[in-house]
Amino acid sequence: MTMKFKCEACGKEHEIFCAELDWEVDENDPEREMGTASHHTASWEDTCECGNDMSIAFGGWEYPSGVLEDEDDPVTQGIKLLPDEGTCCISFEEEDNEEELI
Ligand SMILES: [Zn+2]
Repeated sequence: MTMKFKCEACGKEHEIFCAELDWEVDENDPEREMGTASHHTASWEDTCECGNDMSIAFGGWEYPSGVLEDEDDPVTQGIKLLPDEGTCCISFEEEDNEEELI
């Protein structure tokens, strides 16, 4: 899956590959009924050929384990999100789960 957006300064369209995002856990909430809830974040940044610095920060809560409970609105800088585009969300390796079922 990819996500497209535009440079705020020059309007050039950019694209990132969601699979290339590096997700990490920055917060845990161990007090939940069905186990620990984890907040995952990933960020992307680059400089447009016009010199404009662009960045996006994604985030979301995993709860219970393996389920995306709540996705944060991406925090962006220097870019314009396209209204029809989806945003990158956390992938919890669905292929692995399918293998377990077989
Ligand atoms: Zn630009």
